[in-house]
Parts: sequence; structure tokens; C-alpha cells
Amino acid sequence: MIKTIPCDKCGTEIRPLKQGYTVGMTCPRCGYGWVTTQMEAIDSDTSQYTLKIAPSPSKNLDAIRAISGICACNFIEARAILEKGYEFPPMNARETRKTAGILSEAGVGYRITPEFPYAIPESRDFFKRKDEMQDEN
Ligand SMILES: [Zn+2]
Repeated sequence: MIKTIPCDKCGTEIRPLKQGYTVGMTCPRCGYGWVTTQMEAIDSDTSQYTLKIAPSPSKNLDAIRAISGICACNFIEARAILEKGYEFPPMNARETRKTAGILSEAGVGYRITPEFPYAIPESRDFFKRKDEMQDEN
């Protein structure tokens, strides 16, 4: 059984809220409540991961755009990175997952060392979560 808690402001029963990585309680009537970012194993991971873009002859525009965005470089440089491959400086687990998600969605091949123990949501999923949040209201 979920314990019911009245809203401090209007007395309506407040409900648990879970939206992507955010959890908390919220009042369906006045919106009063609190949220917190859910702690995941990834947050306490202090390892550094190395992400390498695999060299590819692809001229996929999404891939080039994604690389250009991540590396903050121009289109020509991004295409060269895609052709030759690229090794990012070591990143923490969250940064690695975010970068890998963008690359995955754009169809860029990559490799992470050491082995990355977390699922990599395509970055599109982050946007989908936002939509789900709106649907729940
Ligand atoms: Zn309320």
C-alpha cells in the first residue's frame, strides 16, 4: 500500500512522481511538492572511460552533425573525425553515457574502454521522457 499524504497547501492527496531520473511527490491539484534526482549507480562511479569513434567512410549528415556538436568543431573537421576516428579525452560515466547516446542516435560507431556497465539510452529517449512527463499531467 502506498501511504497517502495530504498536500500542505490545499489538502489534496499528493502522489508519487517519477519522471525519467526525477522522483518525488507532487500535488495533482496545485502542483505543490518536491522532487529529487534519483541516485543511480552511475552517479557514484568514479571511473574514467575512454570513448573512441570508429573510423567510418560514412557521409551520414546526422553523424557529422552529432560529431560537430559534441566536439564543437565545424562540418569539415567533423567529417574528418568520422573518417579517421577519434578518441575523446577520458570522461566520467555520466558524460560518457550522454556522449555515447548522441552518437548512437546519429548512427556513429564507437567503442568505450574499459567496458561500460550501463545501458546507453539514445539521446532521443531523453526527449521522449520530457513528452511522457507532460502526458502524465
Ligand atoms: Zn495542493
